Amino acid sequence: MNSEKNLNKEQALYERALKVLPGGISRNAIFRKPHPHYVASAQGCYVEDLDGKKRIDFVNNMASLIHGHAHPAIVEAVSEQIRRGTAFALGTEAEIRHAELLTSRVPGFEKIRFVNSGTEAVMTMIRVARAYTGKYKIAKAEGAYHGSYDYAEISQYSNPSNWGSVDHPAKVPLVMNTPPGVLNDVVIFPFNDIERSLAILEEHAGEIACVIVDPVPHRVGLMRASDDFIRAIYDWTRRKGALLAFDEVICFRVDYEGAQAGFSVKPDITSLGKIIGGGFPVGAVAGKSEIMDVLNPLRSPLPFPLSGTFSANPVTMTAGRVAMELYDKETVKKLNALTAQARKQLVEAGQLAGIPLSITGDGSMFKLHFREVPPSNYREAYEDDSMKKIVATFLDFMYDQGIIMVNSNSCMLSTVMTQKEIDLLAEAALKGFRHIKPMLNV
Ligand code: PMP
Repeated sequence: MNSEKNLNKEQALYERALKVLPGGISRNAIFRKPHPHYVASAQGCYVEDLDGKKRIDFVNNMASLIHGHAHPAIVEAVSEQIRRGTAFALGTEAEIRHAELLTSRVPGFEKIRFVNSGTEAVMTMIRVARAYTGKYKIAKAEGAYHGSYDYAEISQYSNPSNWGSVDHPAKVPLVMNTPPGVLNDVVIFPFNDIERSLAILEEHAGEIACVIVDPVPHRVGLMRASDDFIRAIYDWTRRKGALLAFDEVICFRVDYEGAQAGFSVKPDITSLGKIIGGGFPVGAVAGKSEIMDVLNPLRSPLPFPLSGTFSANPVTMTAGRVAMELYDKETVKKLNALTAQARKQLVEAGQLAGIPLSITGDGSMFKLHFREVPPSNYREAYEDDSMKKIVATFLDFMYDQGIIMVNSNSCMLSTVMTQKEIDLLAEAALKGFRHIKPMLNV
């Protein structure tokens, strides 16, 4: 259990936070009851709390730190850049170098535009698609998380009380008083369900600017899209003059060329974020030159004028480039192999504990489901209140055992992890599984 001293320090900080931040936090992802956990410092894959207790970090700031914390090469490069200035309303070589690296890495990335977050990347991707196709509507999967933009967040947290028929998943706004016009211009389809998705898209044929797909959607259940599904959507977009837009903000890490490497057809445009910032806030849209050209200020009239005070700032660009240089083919392969080993050991732990367990995921990300058969879509993966409580109990137990996991019951690994950390994860999980077993009624 947490030491009382630590609990008091965290409680005291939270009480101060409550006076100045709504609910005491700046991002809901860290919210938990009775208060968030606070960090003093971190190095590699270990995070130290206010009492100096170290835990292994399987969150990596929501999958954004591919090399863990304070990687020496990134710290050095960034420190050098910071001494030379952090942001200018002038160009820098840092942005060109990072763009050269990312465009040479993925064949479909002919041009790239940097922004400041994954949210902004998706927002920009949607508007690029609109400017290019001359259409307004966007289609997205039920349950898929694409950041905090009105259009992108419809049906992000649908639940059985409001999700409606699977033939026509309801459009559920996230924020109270979302303008009805937004709902009119968003089409929701069920992930991985070819027949239903095509039927729904067909009802809006000729009106859709882009179909957004996260090919390994975390909040849907972290299951990979089938190649047939992606191909069916791709073929539909070819026939109807829409773009296939991948949101690879989180899943770019799964392969050297991102998750798109594993599909027989490729997206027209892709939104990026997280790992390409090397630990600093970042987003980007990359894609075919002809499409990206809507952002080109040499054009007149310019279809899509876009600026941003901190876009492509040299600190992020330097950190991101160094991080991605270090994340070379061999390193990707090694990390994915270590993750496969972790999944294997967790399955064994589940069997030993005698609990129902399945694991979804791809590359260096996976999610635990306390059920025998892995879910293949959002509705199957949906966890009711009693399951949410079980997951929260498990995650609190893991935290007390020195393991920090994502609140969705997931792990996002980093390249600085070794077999030692995987063994510690599996050992803690075995105890954790035994701890929650009575709650699972098995
Ligand atoms: N899209 C996806 C798939 C994401 O996972 C996230 C972040 N979790 C975003 C968009 C939004 O990115 P950010 O938090 O950087 O705005």
